[in-house]
Amino acid sequence: MLVAECRELGLDDVTLSPHGVVMATVPSTVPHSAPTIAWVAHVDTSPETSGKNVRPQVHENYDGRDLVLPGNSSQVIRVADNPRLRELLGKTIITTDGTTLLGADDKAGVAAIMAAAEYLMTHPEIPHGPIRLCFTCDEEVGRGVDHLDLQQLGASCAYTLDGDGVGQIDAETFSADLAVVTVTGINIHPSIGKGKMVNAIRILSEFIAQLPSDRMSPETTDDRDGFLHPYQLEGGVAEASVRILLRDFETARLAELARLLESIAQGLRSRHPRARIEVKTRAQYRNMRDGLEKEPRAVPKAVAAMRACGLEPKLTIIRGGTDGSRLTELGLPTPNLSTGEHNPHSPLEWTCLEEMQQAADVLVALAREWGREEE
Ligand SMILES: [Zn+2]
Repeated sequence: MLVAECRELGLDDVTLSPHGVVMATVPSTVPHSAPTIAWVAHVDTSPETSGKNVRPQVHENYDGRDLVLPGNSSQVIRVADNPRLRELLGKTIITTDGTTLLGADDKAGVAAIMAAAEYLMTHPEIPHGPIRLCFTCDEEVGRGVDHLDLQQLGASCAYTLDGDGVGQIDAETFSADLAVVTVTGINIHPSIGKGKMVNAIRILSEFIAQLPSDRMSPETTDDRDGFLHPYQLEGGVAEASVRILLRDFETARLAELARLLESIAQGLRSRHPRARIEVKTRAQYRNMRDGLEKEPRAVPKAVAAMRACGLEPKLTIIRGGTDGSRLTELGLPTPNLSTGEHNPHSPLEWTCLEEMQQAADVLVALAREWGREEE
């Protein structure tokens, strides 16, 4: 559908890769060589709730009341939990019927990009450089950029349209490592286990019990504090393992978290000399802030574009990663912008038409901003 729509708009270089990545170009309208920027959104939706047979409910001229969803009346979008709704009286709110996702994460981003591209194609008097559109798959399972050809994208700066609300610029994410702790024990029939059996489950349980739980955990931290998060456990007597997320805004602190895991393992090794206890850590993604230094104009241009649309931008931090954090790490600086989506990954997801329009307006202003620059 996107390929057909891009062709209908008259965009250049419309391509669909074997892995489902759609790219297209809004050609430059300026005589000088302005930098190429990219707008990126993902077409997959979260696997946490079904996104099949979505029946969107359009609430025009919103009256300020709680929104009871017709397909499941126990699902209610309450104003008390969504204070932003108070500012949207008279606007058009779009919800689900309560039985599925809306998928505004990230259809709102796709819509904002397509609306902005259409506007630019029908207003050639607006000065801007080349703009690449890019629609990815599998973002929600962390594989969104695996098959993205950055050479083919050919941009020097990109923006993901995948943020909630309005007027926000996410320019910082966690830095992330994954640790796998594996205990190898000795299995033998329990009837003759005395002095012979080494139960990996018991030793791994001791390991997990020694992780700090009143601090450095997702349950006890917010804002800029990092954490250790055991999230998956498997095994038996012979071998048992746990996967642990290491997260912090300061990349250097990940090594401290890894050292803490190693010191717990060290203590257990001396108590259980016949068991093997191994801690393996690998990098997942890095704070976008580090990579954004490569293109110092990326965030200020987004700030200027939002101000041009009458918004006072808010620089926010994400306690997680985005496609943008992976792209930034791969060398393409990519902050994340608001799209008007709210309550992602939930049947209580909703979006606001006017906020989506603002997201599209910000993109047009962003095109103008970059059109003034020289490559
Ligand atoms: Zn998303």
